[in-house]
Amino acid sequence: MASTSSRSAALPKSRSSHGGASDELLADLVVANHILFDQGIVDGFGHVSVRHDQDPARFLLARNMAPGQVTPDDILEFDLEGAAVKPDGPPVYLERFIHSEIYRARPDAMAIVHSHSHSIVPLSISKTARLRAVFHMAGFIGEEAPLFEIRHTAGPATDLLISNPGLGRALAQCCGSHNIVLMRGHGSTVIGGSLRQAIYRAVYAELNARYQCEAMGLGEVVYLTKEEGEAAVRTVEQQSNRAWNLWKEQAAQRRREA
Ligand SMILES: [Zn+2]
Repeated sequence: MASTSSRSAALPKSRSSHGGASDELLADLVVANHILFDQGIVDGFGHVSVRHDQDPARFLLARNMAPGQVTPDDILEFDLEGAAVKPDGPPVYLERFIHSEIYRARPDAMAIVHSHSHSIVPLSISKTARLRAVFHMAGFIGEEAPLFEIRHTAGPATDLLISNPGLGRALAQCCGSHNIVLMRGHGSTVIGGSLRQAIYRAVYAELNARYQCEAMGLGEVVYLTKEEGEAAVRTVEQQSNRAWNLWKEQAAQRRREA
């Protein structure tokens, strides 16, 4: 009963802010924000977006706030210039151009997670080691994830943020057809063919990085071949709903207890 009344109360705002995106998409994006926080992929920073399900030239992203606190009313609609569709709205994320430029460059990208998750950052600053798939849950990483060096585009004095469309384009170009791109001294950006797949990949990219760094401390590491990675994606990622359902329930339970 509570959800029915809150949904109808939110409808007028939902229509004007999200350009007719489905209620399911909006609800899933809120859940995605909460899962990423609950799984330790984002803290006060980081963000997740999803391509609009009625207009591929738009996407949905929260206003400038911590993902763990996002509600449906905080979700805004953006165009591929990275501009909020509704003028005079609340402050927006500085790095929204990560999302706008990847959606523009990659028609297959349906959802994007940007984070500074802990185990990924060391692999973004090593001069020699690169993030590579080391176990079957992370075959999507492939043989070697690309690393974006912002100095190549904007010189040695930036704040490392993707804070304009040109930097977003350079990041998208570096990412190419990969599912993840690391950003030197910053974090990573993960692409999924669905919101659930992007969340799955963000969580398992972090775990893969942790296992890889632990194994590197033990000596020489065996990595997945390109073919093993591709085969693992075909089978394991079919089951990403299983993880989503568990993570969703866990996140909701912890929110109730908080
Ligand atoms: Zn960032």
